[in-house]
Amino acid sequence: MPLGSHSSHQPGGQQSPVKDAGTPRPRVLSGMRPTGKLHLGNYMGALANWVKLQNDEVAQYDCYFFIADWHALTTDYADPSQIAPNTVEVMLDYLAAGLDPAKTVLFLQSRVRQHAELALLLGMSTPLGWLERVPSYKEMQENLSSKDLTTYGFLGYPVLMAADILIYQADFVPVGQDQQAHVELTREVARRFNQFYKLGGREVLPEPKVLLTPSPKLPGTDGRKMSKSYGNTILMSDPEPVVRQKLKTMVTDPARIRRTDKGDPDKCPVGDLHKVFSTPETMAKVYEGCRSAGIGCIECKGWAADALVQVLNPIQQRRASFTRDQAKEILNEGSCRAAVRAEQTMIQVREAMQMTLTTVARA
Ligand code: SF4
Repeated sequence: MPLGSHSSHQPGGQQSPVKDAGTPRPRVLSGMRPTGKLHLGNYMGALANWVKLQNDEVAQYDCYFFIADWHALTTDYADPSQIAPNTVEVMLDYLAAGLDPAKTVLFLQSRVRQHAELALLLGMSTPLGWLERVPSYKEMQENLSSKDLTTYGFLGYPVLMAADILIYQADFVPVGQDQQAHVELTREVARRFNQFYKLGGREVLPEPKVLLTPSPKLPGTDGRKMSKSYGNTILMSDPEPVVRQKLKTMVTDPARIRRTDKGDPDKCPVGDLHKVFSTPETMAKVYEGCRSAGIGCIECKGWAADALVQVLNPIQQRRASFTRDQAKEILNEGSCRAAVRAEQTMIQVREAMQMTLTTVARA
């Protein structure tokens, strides 16, 4: 196991960060923006991994997973009306995936005001150039050209993200390969803070490490990466007939135009779905039947739908066992627990920055 230590990067033999001695379990934190119901790409790329971490009896991670409603505001500030309803849907999807409030702290970012306080304080020492260089800053501005993203909030979202992570003194952030840069920036923000401010000569904000999680290639119905912005998703909450209908319209190997044409599952998005969800036996039938034109795409898609439905059934049953009110209640309780933990860090941060009443009284 490459994990397990609470200690952070210690350049130049500096002392280890201040940690509360009562929580020896490695702490893990991650979150998602509430932009709508979650899809299979979200499930396979993040949620399924979070559930594994939550249930890892060897590592016994102290898990914090949250809904990043303030982050949703950075792009949806002009019309925030969908953020609250989406928050409830995402919470239901979290629970449906198997996240368990008895084992994991599930919370709402905006209910833990300390995130905003730490973001403001970190913003004081974060150089502007670091934020302008973030690849997704330009990329998202171009992709979401219908929205004016030349805002202070949008430029500053990596600082808020750093605050989200650092306020829990998280040891690990589970991310896919493509998001490693975000954690690296958080590490830099922490390092810079620690250079300026110490508490009794010790660092306050440990640098989190990346916990690389598998994120299989999951195509959407149009063959591109499954993504809400492409409108090609299969939702975790899609009923079986919808799943089957969506698969029927899914693109296939472009070389296979007629039923008699031979195809290649390695060049087909449906083949990619099989690789993630089907058994080795089905996979063997797909390779054999596709390459020999022994099966038709309709039949092959039916098998893929069977495999998807098998995965989705228990998820949807769990979703149906929670009411919306229960989901909100769990979010409330989790937010209170998170706030207690966040405040512990903020006490250290304020002290280290000499931003307390005591330091004013001493002045
Ligand atoms: S048979 Fe299956 S894998 Fe082959 S092209 Fe059709 S849908 Fe794709």
